[in-house]
Amino acid sequence: MYKHVLVPIAMDHSPQTGEALELARRLLAQGGRITALTVLEAIPPYVAQYLPEGQEQHNRQTIKTQLQSELGDAPDTHADVVVGHAGRTIVEYADEHDVDCIVIASHRPGLQDYFLGSTAARVVRHAPCAVLVVR
Ligand code: ADP
Repeated sequence: MYKHVLVPIAMDHSPQTGEALELARRLLAQGGRITALTVLEAIPPYVAQYLPEGQEQHNRQTIKTQLQSELGDAPDTHADVVVGHAGRTIVEYADEHDVDCIVIASHRPGLQDYFLGSTAARVVRHAPCAVLVVR
């Protein structure tokens, strides 16, 4: 059983996301928590200069609110949205937030040709904790 389970959720949710959250719940120790994490690509500076100030922060907040509403109101399940590179940032987040298990889908929708997607592969290889890959 795990105290802090991380469920990375891409913005184009995979159909396995519900299953990943369900598994996370089953793996959770009493009193533990689940974080659903979306990593946003940074807006390139040559684009950002044409956007209103604070646009990235606004995007993060909007996506976080939407993710949180999809998760429902379970008090032990929270959404977080950070800016970075999906594979690297998920691993760093796990390291910095005392995550002891990551539950991740093996693919995003429509890209089933490979054994494991690139984000999932990086997380399995570099995570500082247990990783459960959902197929
Ligand atoms: P593929 O390379 O086939 O698209 P990925 O390895 O990228 O597969 O995706 C597998 C899983 O990784 C997704 O279902 C999701 O759980 C997670 N993931 C991918 N990108 C992100 C992201 N930007 N933020 C959070 N999780 C992500």
